[in-house]
Amino acid sequence: MSRFMNDKYASLEEYVPGEQPTDMKYIKLNTNESPFPPSPAVFKAVNDAEIGKLELYPDPECGSLTKKLAETYGVEPENIFIGNGSDEVLNFAFMAFCQNGAAFADITYGFYEVFADLHGIDAKVIPLKEDFSICPQDYMGIGRAVFIANPNAPTGMQLSLEDIEAIVKSNPDNVVVVDEAYVDFGGNSAVELTKKYDNLLVVMTYSKSRSLAGGRLGFSIGSKEITTDLRKIKYSTNPYNINRLTLVAGEASLNDDKYYKDNCQKIIRNREYTVKKLEALGFEVLPSKANFIFARTDRMSGDMLYKKLKENGILVRHFTKERINDYLRITIGTEEQMQALVAMIKKILEGEAEAR
Ligand code: PMP
Repeated sequence: MSRFMNDKYASLEEYVPGEQPTDMKYIKLNTNESPFPPSPAVFKAVNDAEIGKLELYPDPECGSLTKKLAETYGVEPENIFIGNGSDEVLNFAFMAFCQNGAAFADITYGFYEVFADLHGIDAKVIPLKEDFSICPQDYMGIGRAVFIANPNAPTGMQLSLEDIEAIVKSNPDNVVVVDEAYVDFGGNSAVELTKKYDNLLVVMTYSKSRSLAGGRLGFSIGSKEITTDLRKIKYSTNPYNINRLTLVAGEASLNDDKYYKDNCQKIIRNREYTVKKLEALGFEVLPSKANFIFARTDRMSGDMLYKKLKENGILVRHFTKERINDYLRITIGTEEQMQALVAMIKKILEGEAEAR
């Protein structure tokens, strides 16, 4: 750190993203990206003519994409806010809505804690139940902004819409943010509830189901008022937050919903296959509605299995946090990738059994 760093950031513990290795080719199952390329419609739309406009700033209103998103999700354009990845939307929500503090689970998306820290927000960290489910009562009338990833990460587990609604209803004076990054893989979206509750903000991303993690595009759906608040933060931070090519890609992707829905079905099938195979190997796998699973085995520590998989060209995610350090979070890839993963895990476990 330099001697110029502002004291208020000196002790910040920054978010550590999953590895994006350049040293060798891995089967990459560590950052919940899609194994499929973007829609052919995206390839067609991001063309030379669009590249030829890059000397001009993009539309700061993201008008055309906003309109299309509103149509797609059955809301008004005024209910849509678009961010540079959903991380930016979440960051802005922490900035805008946490005057009374924030509440989130102990095991959830790690960035919530970092955003709270970054903005000096008092954070109430609420332990998940023993089985890693959320206890909705813990959030009722909590008197601060609530952040819930649904399905949760890294567990993949889902909270029912009834429970989400009860939490939203019991906190009318605070915003409840439901982070639906993984909702397209079998989850239930709370978007309809945003029409009923002005304190609900649903956050979504193009990074997972729509195969556009590299484009950095996320958005939220919420009341006109809270959307206006997010716009205020954006225009005070980075008005041109979405680049031209990503705006084009995002709109083209919405014109080809079938492609991404078919891919989600494939991921769900591959998830069920992987769960079955790992359970047969003696793994405990949490019930996932996401494009990843969270699994552990008594036969080897999470850390060791992570390392051995990496040595053998397969990257998964391992967290060192005590409560979950025996688990691996495994992104669901193509059928071939999941077959290779299962075969390699089997080989590693058998090798270990021989060594004993
Ligand atoms: N929310 C959750 C729960 C996530 O796991 C992620 C991905 N790391 C994000 C939000 C952010 O995704 P992005 O910024 O790529 O939209």
